[in-house]
Amino acid sequence: MLKELTDKFPLIQKMTAGEEVLWINQGLDNIITSDISKTDINDASERLNRFAPYIQKVYPETTEKKGIIESPLVEISEMKKFLSDKAGKSFKGKLMLKCDNLLPISGSIKARGGIYEVLWFAEKIALENNMLNEKDDYSMLADEKFKKLFSKYSIAVGSTGNLGLSIGIMSARLGFNVTVHMSSDARQWKKDMLRQKGAKVVEYPGDYQKAVAEGRKLAESDPSCHFVDDENSKTLFLGYTTCATRLKKQLDSQGIIVDKNHPLFVYLPCGVGGAPGGVAFGLKHVFGENVHCFFAEPVQSPCMLLGLMTGLHEKIAVQDIGLSGKTIADGLAVGRPSGLVGKVTGNLLDGCFTVSDENMQQLVIDLYNKEKIFVEPSATAGFPGFVLTQTHKEYIKRFDEKAMENAVHIAWATGGGMVPKEEKEKYLSY
Ligand SMILES: *Cc1c(COP(=O)(O)O)cnc(C)c1O
Repeated sequence: MLKELTDKFPLIQKMTAGEEVLWINQGLDNIITSDISKTDINDASERLNRFAPYIQKVYPETTEKKGIIESPLVEISEMKKFLSDKAGKSFKGKLMLKCDNLLPISGSIKARGGIYEVLWFAEKIALENNMLNEKDDYSMLADEKFKKLFSKYSIAVGSTGNLGLSIGIMSARLGFNVTVHMSSDARQWKKDMLRQKGAKVVEYPGDYQKAVAEGRKLAESDPSCHFVDDENSKTLFLGYTTCATRLKKQLDSQGIIVDKNHPLFVYLPCGVGGAPGGVAFGLKHVFGENVHCFFAEPVQSPCMLLGLMTGLHEKIAVQDIGLSGKTIADGLAVGRPSGLVGKVTGNLLDGCFTVSDENMQQLVIDLYNKEKIFVEPSATAGFPGFVLTQTHKEYIKRFDEKAMENAVHIAWATGGGMVPKEEKEKYLSY
């Protein structure tokens, strides 16, 4: 099978060799075909608005934003200069950082989808038990009687990292019994933090997919348990989509226009696909053909690139082309992409590219030196997109020069806010 695939998709040779690649999606047509609709996205936004008084009450750090979990969008001109100089080019346009590393509660992009799914489940139970009405002030969910209600239910998730943190922290806070199934090689500080916040951590020798499979099996045998399915959950996906209208407001308030003559480029680190897929899907609803989304993956685990390029989606894994699937980038070490996301967003992406571990580690240091912003390695994967897209001769022909002068590029910094001080220092002294 490998020979056949390689003949058809020669890029696989470079991928197998562990090289950094850029794949331009010839299947881009900007036609939204999914059964996930604009109404679903609006519903999700409204649900988050209903929960805002509760979030503000239990997480006072969200007071300034009135309980809305959102992150800053900042221009990083020093980083732009650095990347341009390094490439020997004088790129026009603006480079910005979407600081999801600063998202409250769990310090990563998982605070969008993960927390949303937990809130969705809590609301469903409270409504079913006639203890809540959608018109109520949801801050009452902090009352003891709701904790008692939620303690009869459990939530489970399989995750080695940030998803586990988001689900674990939010579920425990509401009063659910929450179990995070992890491979035993997951980082110790994450296990410690989860246990300290009241989550149960179950460790499995062997790989992460085994932990997920075990977790799913246990959850299925318990009707009061909700399993958060990283690969297939539409709820999780919807949580991510809600950022798009908020991003539009942030751009508006900074006087930044997005239209044909002012294209927007967004570079999203990708693991199984849910987070970047949800963000891209939301952005397409808001900006249509004027937003250009790229997924960024490690050289050893380009699962979404492989699934999209071959059209095989979840039926192919990076191991099938001789890659290890291993990377230092937490959250991105995924061998098999989400079929749901591939099918929903495959015709909406401009492309995918890959980044080596060394480059991600170096970019952590570069970003810190230039902008005094700390993110974890996976969160830097988007940066090379700024250079790759603008130096790809065929791709850049799609845009006229004038438009590129007005372009805005956003690297999505997906995490780093929970990394303990000692770990940060290790990253910065790499
Ligand atoms: C989870 C995660 C991603 C990717 O999200 P997926 O839904 O797995 O594609 C990117 N960066 C960080 C820091 C993450 O934790």
